[in-house]
Amino acid sequence: MARRPWGERCTAHRTDGTPCGAWAIRGGYVCRMHGGSAPQVKAAARRRLWEEWERRQEARWARMKESTRDEWARMFLPMIDPPQG
Ligand SMILES: [Zn+2]
Repeated sequence: MARRPWGERCTAHRTDGTPCGAWAIRGGYVCRMHGGSAPQVKAAARRRLWEEWERRQEARWARMKESTRDEWARMFLPMIDPPQG
């Protein structure tokens, strides 16, 4: 599985009102400068990453089951129902 970056930008604003735009910490929505290093923010980010990971695992399992079923069908259908002629 390819490791995709979290890819979120910091949603906080600078003191002059412009968006920060720096890369957020993995699993979070703020950069290190805007609270991303605070323990509770890191904990929430970890939980979010974990949930995200679980979601992807589920999607992966679903795909796997489907391809396995197709494989089985390819392997056994000819035996059950041999082509005529
Ligand atoms: Zn920031």
